[in-house]
Amino acid sequence: MTLSQLARSIAESPTLRLNEEAQDLREKGEPVIHLGIGEPKNKTPIGAVLSAGARLNEGDIKYTPTDGIPSLKKAILRYTEESYDRLVAPENIIVSSGAKQALFNLFYTLLNPQEEVIILAPYWVSYPEMVRMVYGVPVIVTPEDGTFHPRMEDIERKVSTYTRAIVVNSPNNPSGMVFSEDFIGQVVQFCERKKIYLIMDDIYHKLVFDGKTAPPGYRFTRQTPDETYVIVVNGISKLYGMTGFRVGWAVAPRKIVEIMTNVQAQTTSCPSLILQAGAEGALMGMQSIVEGLRLTIQNNRDVTMQELQSFRDVRTPRPEGTFYCLPDFRAYAQDSVELSNFLLRKALVVTIPGSEFGMEGHLRLSYSGTVKEITEGIARIKWALDPESPNEIYIGDRKMVRDWL
Ligand code: PMP
Repeated sequence: MTLSQLARSIAESPTLRLNEEAQDLREKGEPVIHLGIGEPKNKTPIGAVLSAGARLNEGDIKYTPTDGIPSLKKAILRYTEESYDRLVAPENIIVSSGAKQALFNLFYTLLNPQEEVIILAPYWVSYPEMVRMVYGVPVIVTPEDGTFHPRMEDIERKVSTYTRAIVVNSPNNPSGMVFSEDFIGQVVQFCERKKIYLIMDDIYHKLVFDGKTAPPGYRFTRQTPDETYVIVVNGISKLYGMTGFRVGWAVAPRKIVEIMTNVQAQTTSCPSLILQAGAEGALMGMQSIVEGLRLTIQNNRDVTMQELQSFRDVRTPRPEGTFYCLPDFRAYAQDSVELSNFLLRKALVVTIPGSEFGMEGHLRLSYSGTVKEITEGIARIKWALDPESPNEIYIGDRKMVRDWL
């Protein structure tokens, strides 16, 4: 059988794979704790349920305009104005099946083969794979100072005549860092000067802690919505904990949206009407849900940091947003894939290896679950790795004895 070399070279999504593995173990009755996936535990907001339900009850579910139903685009327009103080037109917005599809369509629209996209490490696993899928070249920039905060000097060194875009994700998956106002200002100005697109993946922009906000790219552009090089990608997955609805969007100059619409028309036609109605219901419904979710996650972040402090040799930069942190486990293991597999086998805890995010030696832990899952999960990791911790632990109702340290 001959299959496309490119397709075969695309890595499977480690988060989704580990999710399935954990599910299998759970189905076998194993008491697995999932610190892998980033998915809030809340129920779907009532506004979304009612709005999607009403559409379903009408029993008239057909194709929609490729770029989204006008009423949802209007809700996104309002959201963009309220969140960023930025007035855009409906022609600047395209709704897709998740922010993931919006990003893929965007890369497909912006890149010629061999053109480059700057990706800042630690990065979300899907960016490099998506860029490669459209025959582009991901160029990874790692902060030379050993922090998780990008620096302009490191980026400028990697920009070439082939650079078409830079992706900025702040608050950041996997580190939880919120990038500084200075950095965002500099990168916007740099991109507009060099005519490089700046893709702001703002999927976590409302999930920021301690009364802070994430400086938005729009604050620093002086260009109109049709001339700017700042493109914003967002969605409802993290904002309202509506990951299964698969609705996201991009806000971009209309000439880009036009091409993205053609790409989407020839691949998926449009996002599902029912799910678009759900997204509209969430955006137009009670926004206190977002704040409630944020406070819960902030508390989870505090618990996570406190629990991680009990490791003498693990350093974790304090996350300022998202529901992830990226502790450095190099005192215990250099190979994060091996470490993650070991923790799943021995302690039944799912973690994501840092190598997937361009940060070997680290593990990404998600604190989007319950406080009990976080405290128990970290206690199990400590038991599995730290010789100073007691060598017996209960996992479920089984007493486990550590015999490998
Ligand atoms: N960007 C980032 C940084 C993410 O973490 C995720 C989801 N994990 C997405 C985009 C995709 O979001 P969606 O569910 O809307 O496709």
